[in-house]
Order: sequence, then structure tokens, then C-alpha cells
Amino acid sequence: MTHVFHRHLHHTPPVAIAASGMTIRDAAGRDYLDASGGAAVSSLGHGHPDVIAAMHAQVDRLAYAHTSFFTTEVAEQLADELIGGAPEGMSHVYLVSGGSEAVESALKMARQYFVEIGQPQRTHFIARRQSYHGNTLGALAVGGNAWRREPFAPILVPATHVSPCYPYREQHEGESADQYGVRLAAELEAAILAQGADRVIAFVAETVGGATAGVLTPVPGYFKAVREVCDRHGVLLILDEVMCGMGRCGTLYACEQEGVVPDLVTVAKGLGGGYQPIGAVLAQRRIVEAMSQGSGFFQHGHTYLGHPVACAAALAVQRVIRRDGLLAKVRDDGEAFGAMLREALGDHPHVGDIRGRGFFWGVELVAERATKSPFAPGLKLHARIKNDAMARGLLCYPFGGTVDGRQGDHVLLAPPFIATRQDLQEIATRLAGAIDSVTRAAL
Ligand code: PLP
Repeated sequence: MTHVFHRHLHHTPPVAIAASGMTIRDAAGRDYLDASGGAAVSSLGHGHPDVIAAMHAQVDRLAYAHTSFFTTEVAEQLADELIGGAPEGMSHVYLVSGGSEAVESALKMARQYFVEIGQPQRTHFIARRQSYHGNTLGALAVGGNAWRREPFAPILVPATHVSPCYPYREQHEGESADQYGVRLAAELEAAILAQGADRVIAFVAETVGGATAGVLTPVPGYFKAVREVCDRHGVLLILDEVMCGMGRCGTLYACEQEGVVPDLVTVAKGLGGGYQPIGAVLAQRRIVEAMSQGSGFFQHGHTYLGHPVACAAALAVQRVIRRDGLLAKVRDDGEAFGAMLREALGDHPHVGDIRGRGFFWGVELVAERATKSPFAPGLKLHARIKNDAMARGLLCYPFGGTVDGRQGDHVLLAPPFIATRQDLQEIATRLAGAIDSVTRAAL
């Protein structure tokens, strides 16, 4: 009998008791190779001595101080570290306790910015289908995952959802990547105009889509075209890099690879690498200045803003990434990992697409490659793959997303940046075994 309110109420998961490097051990003594970093969280793997030492030192010095009374050295140092590598013009970091809090904070910052500059009529957000921005009500409202939204839809703030950048399914035959990006930007512009351009607060998008459609990498030029549309109508661009940021795609911020600068960017997960719950919003100077020259106050806040131990963990994680040159490693080994996945799974009759960058890869499963038809949702293929992979000692992150109005199955891989090529090969091999056995049994 468990008193913990687990995610799946009919199933108590194994008890994790220890972890080191790439591996987590359960109470039965089984070891699992962590190919997804939990939910794309763990960047340095488990038990990193530098991070643990930094947390111990911070607990001994100062475990908690409320931000209405104090700032702390460690929060200031972390903000400096993040701004040092941030997209141009970012001047301030708002430190929260996770991804959903970061998204909520960004939405409210964007809204308050327009109130401060005398445009209070801006009340509407535009986001994308098949996106995920978190489970709190504001984040859920902009999220575009139909299944997650459905029971709560009547109590969500209104938001418009446009098409994601999903070339495998939605780029037209004969359409170039360029033309596809321009078409999507035109769709966004039409959505802005349909609302009334002066009524829209922001367009919200994951730079590289994560948990809803199995890693959606944008086509080149898409975000530049989106940025132009936003600028034309005075709409802010909020990029959600909770999953794809902090080095996961091989650059500290994924948007560096798109050549665009957002107005607000959210990060979490890899920021603290799982050692502590922490997230952040980075804001452009003009947004913060509008508040400081206006009301002088951001009308928001949480008890654990800038938590010192979380900041110490994140600072240590980010310094190790920089010191050990892990971004370059992620870029190089990421390409090799993609090749390993293609080698292991590229010819599989039920693998429709393999896509990603850095240490962020998605495998999309299909019932039939020619028609790209997804498996029937009732088969719950993603859940079976997760279980089969666990039985093989592999942690991957499969889920069902909505494709053409039906459930589709994807597997997300996000190994810690410390993974060796041998680890990556082992992940590809075990995953291919799990996908093969589950798809055979399902048919
Ligand atoms: N935004 C994105 C892109 C995410 O992938 C997630 C979580 O998966 C969130 C926001 C929510 O983060 P959290 O679960 O830390 O609240």
C-alpha cells in the first residue's frame, strides 16, 4: 500500500534507491541506463561530485532566504553566468522552481509589459498545436496537446493554436523547406490579424518541440520568418527552451542555431540537471525597463524564487558544462548518435522518422511507412515500449501525441551529456530491441 499519489493510480513504479553517472538502480538491484535523463533533465548524469559539493557548501552557508528581503551571492552569480551566454539584449533572469513556473512567469511578464507601456488591450496568446509548455493552467492554455488540455479546456484562458513546424507530416510534396517556413509564418500572421494585431500579447513556441511530438526540429528560416511577423505587429516572441535549452541541442540556447533573439526565453530541466528543482525566465532589457520605469514592480512571485541551494546546483552544473567543453561534445557525439539510431532503426518497418540535434532525438513510430498512418491509440504502444525498455534496463521517454486527430507514438531520447559513444551505441541497440519486440507483438 502506497500513500504517495503516483501519476498512474493502478501501478506503483519500482523504487529508485541510488544513481551514478548514466545509471539508476532500483530496490531490486536492477540497473537502468538513463537514455532520457528522466524527462530530458539530467545533463551531467547522476552523482556528479562538483555539483554535490556545491550544494553541500551552500546548505552549510545559507539554505534559504526569501527574495522580498534579500538577494544572495549565489543567485547573482547564476544570473551572471546565464546572461553571459544568453541571446543578445537579455539583461535579467527571473529564477523560479521549474518549467511550468517559468512559463507562467513569462506569460505574466509579457502581459504586464503591455499594461506598463499603455497597451492593456493586448490579452491574447498565440501558440502551436502539438506543443507542451507545462501543466499549470496558464502553461496548459498555451500548450497544444489536445489530450492534456481536454478535461480542463473550459477553465483555460483563450489562446489560438497554429500549426507546429512538423516537416515529416505537414510539409507539402514539392514544397521547399524555405517555402514551408514562409507558409507557417503566413499562417501565424493570419492568426494575429484574425484576433486584431493590437490585441495579441505574444507568440509562444518551443524552439525545438519536445514532449508532444517527439522532437520537432524547425526548418531553417522558420523562426526568422516568425520573428519578422511578430515584429511587424508588435507581438512578443516567447521561446520555451525548458526542454531543448541549456545545451541539450549542442548550444546553450537552442535559438542560437535559428539566428533569432526572443523577447523572453524560459529554461529549466537541464539548468539544474535534476540536482535541484529550478527554472528561469530571461528577459530583454526593454521589458524589464518598462516595468522599472512604470510600476517598479513585477506583480508576481513564489516562495522559493531564487532558492540558494537550487541556484548553487545550477551554477555548478553550468560551470562544469563550460569547463569540460560539453557543448562541443554534445554537437559531435550528437551527430554520431543520430547515425547510430538511423543504423539501428532506419530500416525498421514501423519507424517513420528519426530526427533531432545534439543529445535530443525523437523516433516516430507508424503502423505503415508508406501512408505514415499511426498505430491505433488503444494499443498504447508508447507505454508498452517504455515497459519493454525498462525490462531491458533502458530508460527512454515514449509518449503518445495527437497526429491528424489520432494518437501517434514517439520515443524521446535525451541522454546526459557525459554519455560515451559506447553508451550511445548501447542505447540505440536496446531501443531497437524494444521497438522491434513491441511492434511485432502488437500486430
Ligand atoms: N515547457 C516545456 C517545453 C517542457 O518540456 C516542460 C516539461 O516537460 C515544461 C515546460 C514544464 O516543465 P515542468 O514539468 O518543470 O513544470
